[in-house]
Amino acid sequence: MDVVLIGAGIMSATLASFLRELEPSWSFQIIERQPDAAMESSNAWNNAGTGHSALCELNYSPQQEDGSITITNAVKVNEQFQVSRQFWAWLTKQKIVKDPSTFIRTTPHMSFVWGEKDVEFLRKRYAALKDHPLFAGMEYSEDLAQIAKWAPLIAIGRKKDQAVAATYALAGTDVNFGSLTRQLIASLEAKGVEVKYETTVTDIKRKKNGKWVVTSSGVNGKKNVVTAKYVFVGAGGGALSLLQSSGIKEIQGFGAFPVSGQFFKTTNPELVQRHNTKVYGKAQVGAPPMSVPHLDSRTVDGEGALLFGPYAGFTPKFLKYGSRYELLGSLRFRNLLPDLHVGLKTLGDGLMTYLISQVFASKKKKFESLLDFMPTADPRDWELITAGQRVQVIRPEGGAKGILQFGTEVITSEDGTMSGLLGASPGASTAAPIMIDVLKRCYPQRYEEWLPKLKQMVPSIGQALSDKPALAKKTLESTAKALKLEA
Ligand SMILES: Cc1cc2nc3c(=O)[nH]c(=O)nc-3n(C[C@H](O)[C@H](O)[C@H](O)COP(=O)(O)OP(=O)(O)OC[C@H]3O[C@@H](n4cnc5c(N)ncnc54)[C@H](O)[C@@H]3O)c2cc1C
Repeated sequence: MDVVLIGAGIMSATLASFLRELEPSWSFQIIERQPDAAMESSNAWNNAGTGHSALCELNYSPQQEDGSITITNAVKVNEQFQVSRQFWAWLTKQKIVKDPSTFIRTTPHMSFVWGEKDVEFLRKRYAALKDHPLFAGMEYSEDLAQIAKWAPLIAIGRKKDQAVAATYALAGTDVNFGSLTRQLIASLEAKGVEVKYETTVTDIKRKKNGKWVVTSSGVNGKKNVVTAKYVFVGAGGGALSLLQSSGIKEIQGFGAFPVSGQFFKTTNPELVQRHNTKVYGKAQVGAPPMSVPHLDSRTVDGEGALLFGPYAGFTPKFLKYGSRYELLGSLRFRNLLPDLHVGLKTLGDGLMTYLISQVFASKKKKFESLLDFMPTADPRDWELITAGQRVQVIRPEGGAKGILQFGTEVITSEDGTMSGLLGASPGASTAAPIMIDVLKRCYPQRYEEWLPKLKQMVPSIGQALSDKPALAKKTLESTAKALKLEA
C-alpha cells in the first residue's frame, strides 16, 4: 500500500480524502476495529458537535493579570475553522458529501455569564473581538429581555437583579462529525479504497527497506499483514500505544491522561423547540478547558435534542469501547517520570480536585450546574449519557518533567513516513487544517505540486484571513452559501 490509515474517525477520513484527490492512482487501506466508521469520539453523540470557531468558547480568550484579554488563540481557532469550512464547501460542490444539512447547520453561538466580575470579562472580550473580520456581526447584551429573545431557556426563572451578559453570533454551527466521517469513508470506498472493519491493529514495525509492516487481527482472530510506504495513526485514544509500538523516537517520553465525559440530554420537543443556540459559560476553577459547561441545541440524523455538560470524570480507558488496562499499558520507562510529574502537579493545581469533585458528584449535584444555566430545568426531562473519551497529551519537558497539554499534537517520524495524532482539542473542527499540515510535513517534495489542487479545495490556503478583511468576508459568504448556512 502507498498509504495505510489506522482508525476510521474524522481525522483518517479527512486525510484519506485529501490524499485520494491528490494522488488518485495510489493504493490505500483503512483499518478500523469497530464494525462501522465514526463509532468513537467522532460519533455525533460522543462529542458536542460544536464547530469550534471561538465565537462562544471563553477559554480561547483568557484574561491576563492586568485585566486585558488575549485573543490570539481565539483568532487562530477561527482561522482553522475557516479552512475546514472551505474544505467542506468543496466536498459539497463535488457531491462527495450529500446535502450539507446532513452534517452542518446554523446554530448561533452564545457566551453567557453571570456575576459582576464575569460580566466585565465578557464586555472586554466583546470589545476585543467585535471589529475583527472573523468575528463580524457578533452582538452583545446585558439586558435579560434581549438574552431571552436569543435563548429563552437560560433567561426564564432567573432573578431579575442578577448581573448577566451574553454575546450572540449567527455564524455559529452545529456539526455532525459522525455523518461527515461516514460520508467521506463511503465515498472513498466507492473509489476503491479498502476499509477493513472489525480489525484491530496490534503492531507496527519498520522493515530494513524503510517500509512499515502493519499487523492486525480481524474477525475470528484472522491475521492481516500489510506493508505500507506511509502510515497515519488516526486511532484517537488508541494512537499513543500504536505510535509507541512503532518505535519512532519522536514518541519517546509522551504519555497520556484520559478524561471521560457525560452529558445531560433531553429530547422533550417543547424544550428542543425553544432552544436553537449553543450557549457556553465560564469554566469552574481548576476545570480543564474542554469542561466548560454549555447548553447545546443538537440535530443528529434528523433527531433534535438538547445537551448540557460535559461533566468530566476519570477512567483508565483511552477509548470509550476500550480496556481498563490502557492507561497502565501506556507507561514506558521514558514517560514514567514525566507522567508522575504531571500527576503530582495536577494534584497541586486544582485539576485533580476538580476531577475528584466531578467523579463523586451525584446526579442531583450535577443537575445543580444545569440549573445555574437553565433555572427551570426539570430532572424528569433529562438523562445522563456517556460521551467519548478525551485523551490529553503529557508532553515531555526535558529530564523528569512533563506538561499536561490540552491541544492536539501531531507526531511525525523524522523521515515523514509515519504520523499520528494525539490529544483532543479543538478537535474535529480543525481536522482539515491539521491534515493539510500533515501533508506538508510528510510529503514536502510533493506539496508544491499539490498546491494548485489544494487551492481548489481550500481557496485561502496559506493566507491569514485576519490580515485580509475583504478575503475574510468573501470566504465566509461563499462557504455559507455552499453549506446553506445563514452566516
Ligand atoms: C466529550 C467530547 C466532546 C467533544 N466536543 C467536540 C466539539 O464540540 N467540537 C469538536 O470539533 N470536537 C469535539 N471533540 C473532539 C473530537 O470528537 C475529536 O477530536 C475527534 O473526533 C477525533 O477524531 P479521530 O479521528 O482522531 O478519533 P476517533 O473518532 O476516536 O477515531 C479513532 C478510530 O480509531 C479506531 N481505533 C482505535 N484503535 C485502533 C486499532 N488499534 N486498530 C484499528 N482501529 C483503531 C477507533 O475505533 C476509532 O474509530 C469532543 C470530544 C469529546 C470526547
